[in-house]
Amino acid sequence: VRGRIWRLLASPLILVLLLLAIRAWARPGGGSSFSGGSSGGSGGRSSDDDFIIDLVLLLIQIAIDYPQIGLPLIGAVILFFIVTRMIQSDSGRIVLVVIVVCGLAGLCVWRPHLGLGVAGALIIGVGALALIGSTKKKPAEWSTTKKRIEVAPQPRRSTSSARRTLEPLRKVDPEFSLVVLEDFLDALYTEVQAARGQQQLARWGGYLSAEARASLEDASLAAVEDVIVGSMKLCTADLSGPLGGDRVSLEVEYEANRTERRKDGGADHYYVLERWSLTRKAGARSRAPAQARVFGCPNCGAALESVSGGICTYCKQNVDTGEKDWLVESARTLRKETRGPILTEQAPEVGTDAPTVVDEDLTENLSQLMRKDPQFSQDSLAQRIKLVFDALQVAWSTRDWLKARPFLSDRLWSAQNYWVEAYKRAHLRNVNAETAIERVQLARVASDKHFDAVTVRLYAHGLDYTVDDGGKLICGSKSQTRRYSEYWTFIRGADARGAAHSEAKCPNCGGELKVTMAGNCEFCKARVTLGEFDWVLSRIEQDEVYGD
Ligand SMILES: [Zn+2]
Ligand SMILES: [Zn+2]
Repeated sequence: VRGRIWRLLASPLILVLLLLAIRAWARPGGGSSFSGGSSGGSGGRSSDDDFIIDLVLLLIQIAIDYPQIGLPLIGAVILFFIVTRMIQSDSGRIVLVVIVVCGLAGLCVWRPHLGLGVAGALIIGVGALALIGSTKKKPAEWSTTKKRIEVAPQPRRSTSSARRTLEPLRKVDPEFSLVVLEDFLDALYTEVQAARGQQQLARWGGYLSAEARASLEDASLAAVEDVIVGSMKLCTADLSGPLGGDRVSLEVEYEANRTERRKDGGADHYYVLERWSLTRKAGARSRAPAQARVFGCPNCGAALESVSGGICTYCKQNVDTGEKDWLVESARTLRKETRGPILTEQAPEVGTDAPTVVDEDLTENLSQLMRKDPQFSQDSLAQRIKLVFDALQVAWSTRDWLKARPFLSDRLWSAQNYWVEAYKRAHLRNVNAETAIERVQLARVASDKHFDAVTVRLYAHGLDYTVDDGGKLICGSKSQTRRYSEYWTFIRGADARGAAHSEAKCPNCGGELKVTMAGNCEFCKARVTLGEFDWVLSRIEQDEVYGD
């Protein structure tokens, strides 16, 4: 009998079943450590993968019901890692399925009763899973209208979304994170503008092609100051060809304000719209969050001073290649106007009644987040959104923007702070009063190695008017309510867990929520604005900008 069991265990089918049993049992409840580890942050697991896993799960249950199959897991543990690796690649998954099918066929020949039983159960199981799968498309607890976050009724695919296109990069670059990329792009723009003013673009050869450097250069400049990226849009991304040796390209549109001081003593404030084309080797390794705004030689990390044009004098390599990091191939100015920010006009709302752009992987990614963090709940997130919403209206209307600091990512807070300061300088105040959230719809959930991100579409109304320091109405209306909707993206560190906080308390020490401009709690000094502890707002996008 012993010999038989060992022979049985030696069959590939059983091995695969046992190995996957470990994976499966780590899922409910304790699924967190698993998904955080070996799935390598590949947030966008498709429903096909889940189907295979569920299928194998079912097979295990059947196998367990047969006493011949014990649980000698020695050796299995080693193979477990091989299997989880296999699951991560398309070809690996195909091999797995082939093994399961061959094993099943072998079992049918070797032990017809067991084999046919398993096969029969498999067919019933497939049917059952297909049924469950079709109902799973709408997770009940998120679709009820009683709750304050709803799922839009008609999921609409945003096929051309650059963010979506970039996500598969994680297969070849596990560190890739959209949050970090956007932080990097923001820093790159700001730093390159400063370098233009200092006539030091040659040092940026690792990040700017010769063509880009030439188009950005302006010999008349003495300094470029007050560079503020008001909005940054990932327009298109292209991940053509098989990943690995191939390139990824990205078009980014920046709307920015800056002051250019010329050598002749003159200075102008500009509003600019620029489109930068970037490229990178797909398989290059992305930077960690802490490195997002740090620039050096992309090849050896030496200080930028070592770089001259396309060559690093330290590592003696060509660096304007995009082999190791993003390289700007061209930088085009689409609009450049000599004006400061416009504060006395109100733009009409566009797209408030347009259907919500819902990511097609929303359901899948949401369940994955809930498996990772069973305490994640829509109720607490909805309450936190209200807390943030209210804090923002007050901070904005009173021009005391520091009050919004604990709830906003560094980048969003600084970009908005620019406008608050502009109002102050112009002796104007934009007031948002009697504001209320009408509805919150879930639009997108995304996870990567460093961050989880949740995008909601927020419908709200309120009064919106601008007054001068004497209280005189400049624009807008003090009586007519304005309806609007926006897409808000909240981020949280991938290791954070638990229900969102809806009280204005420090998420680390529990003390009164008072933070410095850098985002540190005044009492425990913890940095609360990186999303390490709780969800922070990192993007606000208008209807007409979001998702295209
Ligand atoms: Zn170097
Ligand atoms: Zn604290």
